[in-house]
Amino acid sequence: MIVPDRLGRWRGPVRMIQPNLRMTDARGLDGRALVRQVRGHGANAILANGGGIVAWYPTDLPWHWRNPLLRRDFVGEVTEEAARRDVRVLLRMDWSCLIPSIGHSHRDWLALDASGKPKVEWAKTNAPLLRTCPNRPYWRTHAFRGLEEVMSRYRFDGFFFNAWDLPDCRCPECQAACRKGLGEPIPRTIDWGSAFGRAYLLLRAARHAEFTGELASRIRRFSPTTLLSVDFHLTNDNPHHLGRAGWDGALLAGAVDLVTVEAFNFLDRPRPHWEHWADEEARMIRSFPRAKPGIVLLTGSERWIGRRPAQPGPQLEANIRQVVDHGAIPCIAVSGDFRQEDPEVFPVVKRVFLALARRRAPTAPPSARARIALVYGQRTMDLYGGEASRDRALCHYRGWYEALDRAGTVFTVVHDGVLPEVLASRRDLRVLILPNVACLSAPDCRAVDEWVRRGGTLVAEFETSRFDGRGRLRPRRFGLRCIGRRPLRIVRFPGTWFEVDGSSRPWTGGKSSIHPVAGEFLLTRGPRRGVLALRDWTFNNKPEWSQPERGTDWHGLHVSRFGRGRVRYLPWTPGKLYHQCASPAHARLLARLARA
Ligand SMILES: [Zn+2]
Repeated sequence: MIVPDRLGRWRGPVRMIQPNLRMTDARGLDGRALVRQVRGHGANAILANGGGIVAWYPTDLPWHWRNPLLRRDFVGEVTEEAARRDVRVLLRMDWSCLIPSIGHSHRDWLALDASGKPKVEWAKTNAPLLRTCPNRPYWRTHAFRGLEEVMSRYRFDGFFFNAWDLPDCRCPECQAACRKGLGEPIPRTIDWGSAFGRAYLLLRAARHAEFTGELASRIRRFSPTTLLSVDFHLTNDNPHHLGRAGWDGALLAGAVDLVTVEAFNFLDRPRPHWEHWADEEARMIRSFPRAKPGIVLLTGSERWIGRRPAQPGPQLEANIRQVVDHGAIPCIAVSGDFRQEDPEVFPVVKRVFLALARRRAPTAPPSARARIALVYGQRTMDLYGGEASRDRALCHYRGWYEALDRAGTVFTVVHDGVLPEVLASRRDLRVLILPNVACLSAPDCRAVDEWVRRGGTLVAEFETSRFDGRGRLRPRRFGLRCIGRRPLRIVRFPGTWFEVDGSSRPWTGGKSSIHPVAGEFLLTRGPRRGVLALRDWTFNNKPEWSQPERGTDWHGLHVSRFGRGRVRYLPWTPGKLYHQCASPAHARLLARLARA
């Protein structure tokens, strides 16, 4: 028997549009015309509404609520026309909620709050919804009937599940899972920074990824060619959108067939907006060991918390091109269809997509051959950063990303969840950068040590590996033996300098004999002196006195050998400082540190 490549249609150049339909778009909706419009905009794939909270086809399932404004079989029209025009189709499902009339007649499907009441979403609006729980019978049993119905009736490529995040639920099933996994019930309020909170976060993410993998297998058993993709983020600056959503990027990427992530900039995110979201996720998708195709969702809609003003036309165009250059699939999501009160995005998408359609796609994006890997530490964000993950972890990584990008360096981004596999399989990798990746498990530390021993160059910052894979402090040592030093304590200061002498000049470049440092510095002990001697930080910074007279015995850079490899350890935070102030001195230092 010939086993078809289930993902073959998604490995070539794919350009996708998601007309994310509102209830009222059902009036006069023509699924065939919609597919033709998608084609006319240079796309060859559509993410189309299927079912879940609202069914966009004449379902026979009593609890699957048909859009009452829909007069035709939208899914039928889309899938038939798409097959005729060779357009790939993912059907959007959403199991996260139910309308109240259905939810209230199936109380055992609902997510419950700490007082045992059903959780309501959009409670204060004209259309509240009841949240469902992935541990309860709707997700575990009944909702799959909806997938079977769709798979039996229509020809399409796969499912995309919206809202794949976990509710904070206290239903009996969630309580039982917690007691089984951690030996205690879920408290009324969860302190995510506590030992319980961290363990619960890891348990939820592992169970959710396991369920996702089981769903993919179940779909495959029913229809061997139908793919599964779910909505999650690989990177984010909101702690609620990573671990607390139940999203472990590496585990979920391993569980699905197609990796789909969202890189929407919201107006309510901290400034400056992170303009690399699209390319960083595309790079990361490509670096996962199993090389699955990936979709990066971008948006161009004024609605949805002002997502378009946060992503103006030129940036959308740049993001589409970056996603393609890094080997992923761009998908432009709009609220509604082509009958728009906010049509500004369409000319941009049409021009860029048609230009891309004429161009030959790069077969091996540069980042796939990169010799430098920057590690994104989700575990560090979740367990060490917590509510302050942006400040404690993300800014460190982002500064490195910006410095490498601006220096024109070819690099890839690796999720910490697959670090050992990447180190074992990427023979071309020469430099590994750990930007304050504070949480590293013992197996991860062993893999990095071994990789350095064999000849790799490691650049590590600040508290890297000072905590284990469950976020617990390792007293008096780093997890990475190759650092060769012992952490003592952190000191904080508004600003001072390192002395730049002959031995440190190759690292700093420039002409200045001082190099700025501010914020946090981890005092460490080790056998050898470093370079970049730290000046005293306790001086009076009134201009008349702003000359620290004393030097110290602490250093900003420790360069050492470990086996056949090299280690560059910086007990401070140059990546974060660069992200915050874009100083050219830090840009030069980071670029030089990343050289093989
Ligand atoms: Zn539950």
